[in-house]
Amino acid sequence: MNCPRDSAVLEVKSFGTTPVRTCPVCSGMFLAHGQLNQVAGPIRGDLEFCTVDLDSFQHEDAYGPITCPNDGAAMGKVDFNIDTTIILDYCKKCLGFWMDGKELARINEEVKRLNEADAEVPDPLLVRISQFFWNLPLPH
Ligand SMILES: [Zn+2]
Ligand SMILES: [Zn+2]
Repeated sequence: MNCPRDSAVLEVKSFGTTPVRTCPVCSGMFLAHGQLNQVAGPIRGDLEFCTVDLDSFQHEDAYGPITCPNDGAAMGKVDFNIDTTIILDYCKKCLGFWMDGKELARINEEVKRLNEADAEVPDPLLVRISQFFWNLPLPH
């Protein structure tokens, strides 16, 4: 598997007990389905679900669009845990994530903040309700 940014061959690096394919050049990493929860957690709730559920997949980031290193499908941009401005790439085909080098530290910070606040990542139903209100036109 090659890095979607610079084509370097990804190396397997361990995060705790999770082996993650990581780029030796740009430190980006491919997270297979389930691995974001393992690498970013532990936290109560499902970070992956909260990140992609009902996301518009229409976010801007500094990195531009890429294709999935796992299957070549076009990846969409998702906002980690809905509203953090940490934009990850997500493959709807294999449900994997691409996380750029500096994003892991930001995600770790965010999860630490949530844990310190004894927060749970949003319940799927609450996410749906808040997105409903978020999408309503604002009164002017
Ligand atoms: Zn790379
Ligand atoms: Zn994929």
